[in-house]
Amino acid sequence: KLKEFQHFSTVTEKQSSESLKGKSEKREFQAETRMLLDIVARSLYSDKEVFIRELISNASDALEKFRYLSVSSVPESGNLKELDRPLEIRLTTDKQNRTITFQDSGIGMTKEELTQNLGTIARSGSKSFIEEIKKQGAEQASSIIGQFGVGFYSAFMVADKIEVFTRSSKGDSPGYQWSSDGSGTYEIQEADGVEIGTKIVVYLKTDCREFADDDTVKSIIKKYSNFVSSPIFLNNDQV
Ligand code: ADP
Ligand code: MG
Repeated sequence: KLKEFQHFSTVTEKQSSESLKGKSEKREFQAETRMLLDIVARSLYSDKEVFIRELISNASDALEKFRYLSVSSVPESGNLKELDRPLEIRLTTDKQNRTITFQDSGIGMTKEELTQNLGTIARSGSKSFIEEIKKQGAEQASSIIGQFGVGFYSAFMVADKIEVFTRSSKGDSPGYQWSSDGSGTYEIQEADGVEIGTKIVVYLKTDCREFADDDTVKSIIKKYSNFVSSPIFLNNDQV
């Protein structure tokens, strides 16, 4: 089943042309991931904009990982691809389609990394977070979140659906699309036309349409981005 994503033509100037390949695999989030998703979505309700900080910080980490590998002599660095691409973070907003998109040209993810990183809470931050919640109770979630950070899942506070397009800069991994409405399952499918790095398309809930507004997003980026060393663009203008 090949499907073109029409809405991307309005999202980015450069026409995006990912197309899905082969069979889509449906998988379930780990039980603890579901719990984390639920808690995060409920506790951060009054502070929704933090998802922008979290996705920018992930993009920034991915760029740092790529930079690090490209100057190091570990074996993995030998097969890095497209070493000379610009290392940057690009956000685009689309009011009509109610989307906000985060694209980075960083390290990207293989299929295994995608499943592991976005489908389980293997990462240590989330593990300690869940442990604290179990100890202190869900009422304490907001203050616990403050200590551990919430990460990728925070985007489900504002999203009906999230699509991740990613292609690893290591080896010859193909591109993949990951998608989920955050309600317990996600789908993974191979995709053509995916650029190296990661692109995250957040389909905003009706009551979160403000995050598809250029000025609103610009002021949020300015608030959080002082620690980001890669250039950030919003709708093609550097912020
Ligand atoms: P954390 O950043 O604290 O590790 P997150 O929930 O924010 O946790 O992200 C989970 C993991 O997903 C990251 O550790 C990383 O491996 C992967 N990831 C998320 N966003 C990206 C991205 N833009 N590029 C590459 N990997 C990513
Ligand atoms: Mg993170």
